[in-house]
Amino acid sequence: MADNPTPEPSLAETIAALRARMNRAAAGRDVTLVAVSKTKPASLIEQALAAGQRVFGENRVQEAAVKFPPLRVTHPDLDLHLIGPLQTNKARDAVLLFDMIETLDRPKLADALAAAAEREGALPNLLVQVNIGDEPQKAGIARAEADGFIRAMRERFGANLRGLMAIPPLDADPAPYFRDLVAMADHHGLPERSIGMSEDFEVAIACGATMVRIGSSLFGSRG
Ligand SMILES: *Cc1c(COP(=O)(O)O)cnc(C)c1O
Repeated sequence: MADNPTPEPSLAETIAALRARMNRAAAGRDVTLVAVSKTKPASLIEQALAAGQRVFGENRVQEAAVKFPPLRVTHPDLDLHLIGPLQTNKARDAVLLFDMIETLDRPKLADALAAAAEREGALPNLLVQVNIGDEPQKAGIARAEADGFIRAMRERFGANLRGLMAIPPLDADPAPYFRDLVAMADHHGLPERSIGMSEDFEVAIACGATMVRIGSSLFGSRG
C-alpha cells in the first residue's frame, strides 16, 4: 500500500461507484443498499451517514446496541436491519433496536418477537429468511416448510411481514437460488427480496432483488 501512488477512494466515492453499478443492474428499478457495518467502528458509519447512506445491516444484537443508539440521536432517519441469527432471549432488545429484522426463520422466534412487540408496543418490519439451498449448517426456514411458515407469519404479523431474505450456497451459481427466492416472494405477494452481497449483487438485482446487503465492497474486508 505504502508505495501505491494512487490515492484510496473516499468512502463517499466508493458508495457512489457502488450505487452506479446497482443502478445499471437495476435498469430503473429502485433497489435499497443495506450497508453491512458489522465489525466496523462507529466512526466509519458516521462517514457513511455523512455521504448520505441511511440503511445499515448488523449481524449481532449486542454490537448494534453499542454502536447505533448514539448515531440515531444525530440521524433519527437511519434505518437499521438485523441480518444475523436472532436468539429468542434477545427478541426484546432486537425489537427496540432494529427497524427491520431480516432473519425470522422459526416459530419459536415468531412467538418471542410477537411477545416482545406487544410488551414494547413496537413491531419492526420483518423478512422471513429461507434456507434456499437447504444447507444443514445454515439458518433459515427449510425450503419445504417455507410456504406454510410464510403464510403463518403473514397471518400473524400482517403488513409488517415485508418479504424474504436468503443467502445462497457458497461456490455455486447463485442465480437459480435468487430466482427461486424471488418466485417465492411473488407467489406470496411480498414486495421485498433481500438477496445479493459484495460478490454477487449485480446478479441478484438482475434476478429481482429489492435489497442488497453489501459489506466488504463498501467498508473493506473484515480482518
Ligand atoms: C456479512 C454479511 C453480508 C455482507 O457480506 P459482504 O460479502 O461483506 O458484502 C451480507 N449478508 C449477511 C447475512 C452477512 O452476514
